[in-house]
Amino acid sequence: MCGIVGYTGPRQASRILVDGLKRLEYRGYDSAGIAVQVDGATGAPPVVIKRTGKIAELRQAVPKDMAGHCGMGHTRWATHGGVTGENAHPHTDASGKVAIVHNGIIENYMALKGMLEKQGVPFRSETDSEVIAHLVALNYEGDLEAALKASLKHLKGTYGIVCVHADEPGRIVGARNGSPLVVGVGDGEMLLASDVTAMLAHTKRVVYLNDGEVVTMLPHEFRISDGDERRVDPRIDHIAWELEAIEKEGFSCYMEKEIFEQPDSIERAISGRMDHENGCAKLGGLNLSKKELHGIERVRVIAAGTSWHAGLVGCQLLESVARIPAAAELASELRYRNPVLEPASLYFAVSQSGETADTLYAMREVRRRGGTVLGICNVVGSTIARESEGGVYVHSGPEIAVASTKAFTSQLAAFYLLALEFARMHDMSHHEGQRFLAALREVPAAVRKTLAVRDHVQALAKKYCRHADFLFLGRGILFPIALEGALKLKEISYIHAEGYASGEIKHGPIALVSPETPSVFLVPGDHLREKTISNMKEIKARGGPVIALADEDDELVASIADDFIGLPKVDPRFQPFTMVVPLQLFAYFCALELGRDVDQPRNLAKSVTVE
Ligand code: GLU
Repeated sequence: MCGIVGYTGPRQASRILVDGLKRLEYRGYDSAGIAVQVDGATGAPPVVIKRTGKIAELRQAVPKDMAGHCGMGHTRWATHGGVTGENAHPHTDASGKVAIVHNGIIENYMALKGMLEKQGVPFRSETDSEVIAHLVALNYEGDLEAALKASLKHLKGTYGIVCVHADEPGRIVGARNGSPLVVGVGDGEMLLASDVTAMLAHTKRVVYLNDGEVVTMLPHEFRISDGDERRVDPRIDHIAWELEAIEKEGFSCYMEKEIFEQPDSIERAISGRMDHENGCAKLGGLNLSKKELHGIERVRVIAAGTSWHAGLVGCQLLESVARIPAAAELASELRYRNPVLEPASLYFAVSQSGETADTLYAMREVRRRGGTVLGICNVVGSTIARESEGGVYVHSGPEIAVASTKAFTSQLAAFYLLALEFARMHDMSHHEGQRFLAALREVPAAVRKTLAVRDHVQALAKKYCRHADFLFLGRGILFPIALEGALKLKEISYIHAEGYASGEIKHGPIALVSPETPSVFLVPGDHLREKTISNMKEIKARGGPVIALADEDDELVASIADDFIGLPKVDPRFQPFTMVVPLQLFAYFCALELGRDVDQPRNLAKSVTVE
């Protein structure tokens, strides 16, 4: 979850490191630091500067003219040890010659620390990571790569590690096991980061490290080897993202920008993937023959958080449109509950970053048992994308805000295409397929129209944001959207919210209803509309305020609700797209009104790479 960036080359390292960390700030941000080698002074310990708080604090502490052309930086999301200057990374050994940064968790650090302390090694922090610096120092015999490899043999857990040694100017060594590391190949300079966004300003040529690999780099060269000392031939990938895509471009924060980008990001997710003539989807990356796809009898989705909600929508669609039994599982649960893999099942691992640890480990477990797993990811070249047998890239472009918005709607788009693909292999007619595609093609425009509710939603956020509890209620395909609306509100405004199936409220949650607890109703345009209206009345009868989202011409719903958000009419199967947008805006404006840090909510980090 933390961010790592390393640089070696002709330019001023400190500036590149701090700018890189700023780009990674969203990943984890309780403290940050850099270590930079001293130029022309072999043997002099790298200069370490660390600060708690935002990158701005670190930037202030780093002298503008700081010398040095090789070093590394880290933003921390604390797992072991409080948020203090000592616990911030980089960590050094007792001599100060070795400096390391680490992303992940060293599970056996207590045993290692005990062993090292017995040998008289002094510890300065409470982190699990510090043991790595001391182990590298103990194993060092003039070759940093060899020392790191020897140290790795003692580590249990997950890591992305980057280290430098005072006696090897210009050299950076990195290792990966469970936490992402990407090599950036520049012109006479090299970078190493946990995420491509940290180096997009410098190079678009990257090499993704695999678990068990170690990289050694100097400004003009790098080499990768695996745990058995075998040299690995690097595959250089080209990042398609433009630098502007990671700028705020006039918006007050990334989340706002990403909400408003959705008409375009959904368009990217579906464009080139619709075969209008045949009324079917074109998904080239599934890597399964039509025959193999035809033989699939059930689908399972593995995901966490917002991606899980997209999976829940996807499963309902697969069932209703394609008539394939489907269920979405929480990755963190699936992995440890000894799942039965039914024959002829197809698994989808859904993750924006493609690095979500829970999803990755669950997927590996399924593959280990012989299951077929496809990925639905945003980040090209990410671990889940590489380790799955194929899949669908959602092409949202970089998503920076911690609270996912545009990646969610693009994941939905991927599921709509998948449902169509399967449906057309089974019961759906050519004509029906064309109608489905026509409705999908309308989605970007419908979402653009929906965004016009902005000011109205802002006014509602002002009116309601001081309430301490909210209920979000939906049925059928809108139930997962209710869960998503509640999650967004919790994540960024810290208001307690529960998502429930509307029909379920009378079985418990209705006890919460009072004039103090507003209910947000998602009213579908299909056969469940009347049922949902009855549920609204049940809430009104008990004095609960009701905010209702429904088709803009639904006068009945507008007359029952205290507040009404009218949405452009779409095929009811596609309402998840239009319904989720006002909920994203509502969470955003509530957070803004309450003075929260929208892009960097407390305790959360994007791309959850620890279990
Ligand atoms: N476990 C380490 C720590 O708590 C690294 C955490 C991170 O990945 O940011 O310092």
